[in-house]
Amino acid sequence: MTVELICVGTELLLGNIVNTNAAYLAEKCAGLGLSCYFQTVVGDNEERLSQVLRTAMERSDIVILSGGLGPTEDDLTKETAARVCGRHLEMHEESRKAIERYFAAKGVEPTANNWKQAMLPEGAIALENHNGTAPGVILELTGAKVVLLPGPPGELCPMFEESVEPYLAGLTSQVICSRTVKICGVGESRAETMVKDLIDGQTNPTIATYAKTGEVHIRVTAGAQDKKEAMKLIKPVVKELKYRFGNDIYTTEEDTTLEKAVADLLQANELTVACAESCTGGLLAARLVNVPGISDVFKTSVVTYSNKAKKRLLGVKKSTLQKHGAVSQETAEEMAKGAAAQLKADVAVAVTGIAGPDGGTEEKPVGLVYIGCHVKGKTTVKKYQFSGNRNRVREAAVSAALALLRSCILEYFSKVTFGSKE
Ligand code: ATP
Ligand code: MG
Repeated sequence: MTVELICVGTELLLGNIVNTNAAYLAEKCAGLGLSCYFQTVVGDNEERLSQVLRTAMERSDIVILSGGLGPTEDDLTKETAARVCGRHLEMHEESRKAIERYFAAKGVEPTANNWKQAMLPEGAIALENHNGTAPGVILELTGAKVVLLPGPPGELCPMFEESVEPYLAGLTSQVICSRTVKICGVGESRAETMVKDLIDGQTNPTIATYAKTGEVHIRVTAGAQDKKEAMKLIKPVVKELKYRFGNDIYTTEEDTTLEKAVADLLQANELTVACAESCTGGLLAARLVNVPGISDVFKTSVVTYSNKAKKRLLGVKKSTLQKHGAVSQETAEEMAKGAAAQLKADVAVAVTGIAGPDGGTEEKPVGLVYIGCHVKGKTTVKKYQFSGNRNRVREAAVSAALALLRSCILEYFSKVTFGSKE
């Protein structure tokens, strides 16, 4: 079955907002095993929207529209879709009551145009909106199914998960399941080369690689009669990926992030961690603090941006800074050792680098980062050369620091935590 996305909004065309709904919907639909061959962005214009919708309905089984369900004049998606589909708009009593309740709960009087949102195309399936006033709409036509969703992601995403996903899943007799193998410390091209033979020969399950900052995710998706059968198809592929990537896989759990995997590893080995950051300026600590319950293992983090701070707070030697500079193997090593000692942690990770855009030289270009990791008496330092702007360099450095921290701990302790559910 094919699905096509139409995102409506002049703001999208002008680049004022990023089309996150398209990315979200496309990923969700792929997860349902639907093939998405077209995505369109169109402004709040009746004629052009009609044209795009007609074309989509001719060539796709399901058309999902986002945006333009609001109460104002420029919100014309529903009216246009109704016209194109040859349906009148009529008052939908349930939706009218829901709008009434929504405003009563807020203690605000609805304005006249709010009732417009309760007008739905005849014969439509209304989708409740628990986060706003505009109901979503499903129109079942002979040729295609047309789904209308509100634009704000805070309304669209929950509505999709609550109502649209089960509806779409019910259209096919197949169940689609997937597992994601998450890898760190391996570059995208190397990861892809390592699975090229699997990707080339794929049918069911399918294998797709996704590059994230400092990580590669490999998603294995299978369709079958039921979940059990689909998982049976996925299992040997995941096993093969585990064999190929070994310890570089930090999880096969959907909800586990790299920082969570690191936190679990610290916890499993009863280790406390401290950070010393220069160019990342606290981003590493912030990533760790994303994990609920991190306080069990995370002690302290210091941002030692100046040389003076590196000396005073971490005990980096003046001679080291003079001889090798702040961005060097030697400084990273002393920062990591100093952090473990001064901040009294079992494990310490230190980052020093040149995030740019200025400050690079031929010998030490922008993007050069040294990361030091100290685990119970042993310090490892690695040199990285990242590319991209200041933010990208800093984010890449944080991911690399988490990956290095993880691999250094694994080197010392053999409690590997991934794949525990196998
Ligand atoms: P509202 O009732 O808020 O007007 P709506 O369904 O009419 O909702 P739009 O008016 O098209 O939706 O968009 C409202 C807001 O939702 C936008 O200002 C934007 O912040 C967000 N939004 C709309 N479309 C998208 C999109 N494709 N991706 C991300 N955000 C979006
Ligand atoms: Mg609107």
